[in-house]
Amino acid sequence: MPSRTGILLLVSGPSGSGKTTLCRRLADDREAHYSISCTTRPTRPGEVHGRDYFFLSREEFDQKVACGDFLEYATVHGNSYGTLKSEVLQFIQKGIDVVMDIDVQGAAQVRSCTDPEIRRSLTDLFVMPPTDEELAARLTGRKTDSEEVIALRLKNAIEEMAHWHEYQYRLISATREEDYIRFKALLLAERLRVSRITATSESAS
Ligand code: 5GP
Repeated sequence: MPSRTGILLLVSGPSGSGKTTLCRRLADDREAHYSISCTTRPTRPGEVHGRDYFFLSREEFDQKVACGDFLEYATVHGNSYGTLKSEVLQFIQKGIDVVMDIDVQGAAQVRSCTDPEIRRSLTDLFVMPPTDEELAARLTGRKTDSEEVIALRLKNAIEEMAHWHEYQYRLISATREEDYIRFKALLLAERLRVSRITATSESAS
C-alpha cells in the first residue's frame, strides 16, 4: 500500500503560457506521470501519437465518449480533447502523481467530479503570461500554426484568462527556469498534505 495517494495536478492557461513545457518537464524529471490526452485535432510537425496525444478520428473519439472512457472532455479551438480515466486513476491509486494539461472547461468538469479518489487527489494551477502583449508575442512567434489559427487562439486565450480565479494556485510566468522552480515547489508542498498521507496516518493511530 502506498504511503500516500497520488496528486492530480490540473494545469490550465492560455496557449503560449508555457504550461505544456512545465508539465512535460515534470514528467521528464520523473516527478509525475503526464496524462496523455485524446484529441481530434490534426498532428503538428514533430508530434507523435501516444507521446504528445492520442490522435483520434471523430468516430474513434465519439466511441470513447459512448463507452464512458473519459474523465472529462471538451471542445477547444474547434477540436475535441479528452482525458482518459485510464491515464489518471490507476496512477493516483498507486501513489503516483499525475500532471494534466487541460483547458478551463475540462478543469471545471474534473472539479465537479464526485469520485472521492479524484476529489482527494485534486489540486489546480493557472499559468498566465505577464501581459496581453507578451501573450500575443508568444502566440505569433509559434511557427507551427496558420494566421487564422493564431487569431482564434488569441481570442480564446483572452477569454480563458478570465477564469484564473477559479483555481487554487496561479503562476504568472517569468523565465522558464523560475517558472519551473515555482511549479515544482507547488508539487512538493502538495505532497506534504496530511489528507493524502493515508497509510501512515492509519498505522500511527
Ligand atoms: P493544443 O492543441 O495547443 O495542444 O491544446 C489546446 C488546448 O487544449 C490547451 O488549452 C490544452 O490545455 C487543452 N487540452 C489538452 N488536452 C486536453 C484534455 O484532455 N482535455 C481538455 N479539456 N483540454 C485539453
